[in-house]
Amino acid sequence: MAVETNRPETIVLHAGWRADPTTGAVAPPIFQTTSYQFHDTEHAANLFALKELGHIYTRIGNPTNDILEQRLAALEGGVAALALSSGQAASAFALQNLARVGDNVVSSTDLYGGTWNLFANTLRDQGIEVRFVDPSDPEAFRRATDDRTRAYYAETLPNPKLAVFPIAEVAAIGREFGIPLIVDNTAAPILARPFDHGAAVVVYSTTKYIGGHGAAIGGAIIDGGNFDWEKHAERQPALNTPDPSYHGAVWTQAVKPIGPVAYIIKARTTLLRDLGSAPSPFNSFITLLGLETLPLRIERHSQNASAVAAWLTKRPEITKVIHPSQQTGETRARADKYLKGGYGGLVGFELAAGAEAGRKFIDALKLFYHVANIGDARSLAIHPASTTHSQLAEEAQIATGVSPGYVRLAVGLEHIDDILADLDQALRAI
Ligand code: PLP
Repeated sequence: MAVETNRPETIVLHAGWRADPTTGAVAPPIFQTTSYQFHDTEHAANLFALKELGHIYTRIGNPTNDILEQRLAALEGGVAALALSSGQAASAFALQNLARVGDNVVSSTDLYGGTWNLFANTLRDQGIEVRFVDPSDPEAFRRATDDRTRAYYAETLPNPKLAVFPIAEVAAIGREFGIPLIVDNTAAPILARPFDHGAAVVVYSTTKYIGGHGAAIGGAIIDGGNFDWEKHAERQPALNTPDPSYHGAVWTQAVKPIGPVAYIIKARTTLLRDLGSAPSPFNSFITLLGLETLPLRIERHSQNASAVAAWLTKRPEITKVIHPSQQTGETRARADKYLKGGYGGLVGFELAAGAEAGRKFIDALKLFYHVANIGDARSLAIHPASTTHSQLAEEAQIATGVSPGYVRLAVGLEHIDDILADLDQALRAI
């Protein structure tokens, strides 16, 4: 980066790329190639042996993806990142990188429905047990830990409760055991900085606020470089014993000359190599374009969502408004400890008249889109109870613990008066 800074507004525009050395092109180029010509046989041998870093094949790395990775790592205060084709790939890889057959992970119960399915079913079928605990009690993580626990997992600002996760408290418990806390920060980029509170790994669905325009699916894992994997060799065998899938490399030793990046290099050179899930450089270009305005957008998403939440509290049709700005007591204290500069764009509410009212509300919306997504520049809404038996069942699962009249809004960047006018006319239609 031309300017050394830790300010997000500058990082998203400058980290990882200045200009193309040959053409002077300023916008990050789309390197639409599968492979990269080696200088000579020695160069090829060095790349494969990790003696030298460079590109070999786009499934494992690509220069456009690399700019996104550098920018995200800088933004988050981590040391390196791995861009992936979806947020689902990011959360799967984040755990598979540490846990093997017979191992377990302790996770917060408050998760995106798709992550819940991945953990409760797909990872279980692969021999990795995920133990779910109540995140409002950090000590529950300790109680669920045993000798085979390899990681803790949580979301910063999970739906539908929007109760911020106690990152520092759980990260500190994990560090006593040599267990890293992995945090999905999808709903709160810029606002929350999990590494500042002791998290070791951050994952994102870049599909949401980072890309920000509902145009490209993507994911990322960011390595905080702040976890001593070697010190906890018995706890973390995947990084401390010879890996037969990479010439017997012991990852904490093999990458030492490059820096504290054993975790992320292993994810790239084994999981991404073997399972695929590489992002297309075109999608990374779109994500980078969105990322350039993330600090501005997240501020406005937060302002609009807080205004919507305050407005909803005055409506007679609504029994409950779910947004950190409306929380009290310990839950609010956590929101204020971990979220800086706003509470994010997500708002939930419960309609007194139940499921039928939820359906009518959604069908009456004109400005809000009815979609299974969050984090678009446009305002979005969904009534999870309507989608329970459809292909959107995973979205419905997030409604666990809320009433059939629960509606989720992902408040966008339109003028606040237009947002409120649409909500008003839809509430009148129920
Ligand atoms: N994590 C969270 C918090 C999400 O909301 C989502 C998607 O909704 C994901 C992960 C999965 O991301 P993707 O849809 O990019 O695979």
